[in-house]
Amino acid sequence: MAAKVKKLEKSDNIFEKILSGGFLSAGEGLFLYENVPTSELMAVADALRQKINPGNRVGWIIDRNVNITNICVSGCLFCNFYRGEKSPEAYVTSMEEYEQKIEETLARGGDQLLLQGGLHPRLGLDFYAGLFSRLKQRYPQLKLHALGPPEIAHIAELEGKSYSYVLKALTEAGLDSLPGAGAEILSDRVRNIVSKRKCSAKVWLDVMREAHKMGLITSATMMFGHIETKAERIEHLIKLREVQSEKPAGAVGFISFTPWPFQDEDTALRRKLGVRNETTADDYIRLVAVSRIMLPNIRHIQASWLTTGKDVAQLCLHGGADDFGSIMIEENVVSVAGASYVFDEEGIQRAIRDAGFTPYRRNQRYEAVG
Ligand code: SF4
Repeated sequence: MAAKVKKLEKSDNIFEKILSGGFLSAGEGLFLYENVPTSELMAVADALRQKINPGNRVGWIIDRNVNITNICVSGCLFCNFYRGEKSPEAYVTSMEEYEQKIEETLARGGDQLLLQGGLHPRLGLDFYAGLFSRLKQRYPQLKLHALGPPEIAHIAELEGKSYSYVLKALTEAGLDSLPGAGAEILSDRVRNIVSKRKCSAKVWLDVMREAHKMGLITSATMMFGHIETKAERIEHLIKLREVQSEKPAGAVGFISFTPWPFQDEDTALRRKLGVRNETTADDYIRLVAVSRIMLPNIRHIQASWLTTGKDVAQLCLHGGADDFGSIMIEENVVSVAGASYVFDEEGIQRAIRDAGFTPYRRNQRYEAVG
C-alpha cells in the first residue's frame, strides 16, 4: 500500500510538470507509462492537447501514397513490400502511372502525393530530382511529401554528397516536405536486428536536423510492438524532442508525430524470429497519450486508424491526438502486412464527429483547406 501511495505522489508531481510545459526525463516518462492508469494518462494528455491545440478540431487530409519503386537493398525484416532488382515483380513507377494516379487524386479534391519507395541500388539524385521537377511542371499545384531520412541518406551515399546537398537539390526540384518514414525505433540495438542495412538512429536524426535547418517541414513516426522495450520507446520520443529543440527559431521542424503498431502478417520478423503484433487497443491508446506528454514541442499527434481501426483511433482523440491523418487513396506497405481499414471523405469526417470533435480538412502544414 505504501509503495502504491508513493507511486501516486510521484505521478502527481509529474502531472504538474507536464501541465506547466516541462520536458519529462526518461525515468519520469517510463514511470508514467508503466504505472499510471490509462484513464489518467488520457486525461493529462488531453489537458496538454488543449493547451497546445485548444478547441475540439481534428484534422484530416486527402493524399495519395504512390510508391516510386519496390526495389530495395535494405531487406527490413518487417517489410513484405520490397523486391530484388531481378524479381519479376520489381517495378519503377512510370510517368503515365503517376499521371493517372495524380488525376484521380485531384478529381477527389486531394493535392498531395506521399511518395515513398525502396532503397534502389542505382537510382540517384538525378532520377529523384528529375522526377520531382517533371511532376511539378505538369501539376504546379501538387504538393510532394516525399522520401524520408533513409532514402536521403542512401542517395547521399550513392552520390558521395552531404545530406544538405541532397535535400537542397530535391527541394529545388519540388520536394515540399519530408515524411518521418523509416524511423521504426530510434535505437541501434533494435535497428541492428529489424533493419540492419537501413540508416542508424543517428543518421535518421541528422538528416532531420539538416532538413529543419533548411526550413523544410518534416513529420515523425514510430513503428512499435516488435522487439523493442518500453524504455526504448521512451528513448525514441526523447531523441525526437531533442532534435525538435535544436531547430532554428521560426522553423516548424517536426509538425506531427504518428505511432503505429508493427503489422506482422507474412513478415520475416514473424516467420524467422516469431515476433507477432500483440498490440492491444489499450497499448495503442497509452502510447499515444505518452507521446503527447513526452513531445510538448511537437504540435500535432496523429492517431493511425489505418493500422488500429476506427474505434481505437477515435478513443485516442480523447487522449492526446488531434489528427486523424489521411484517407489514403492508396497504401501498399502496411496493407501488404495485414492492415486493412479504409475510409472515404465522408467516412473519416463522420468518424471524427462521432467521437465528439469537429473535422477540418488540412494540408501538410496543418492549415485548413477546402
Ligand atoms: S521498409 Fe523500406 S527500406 Fe525497409 S525493406 Fe521495405 S522498402 Fe526497403
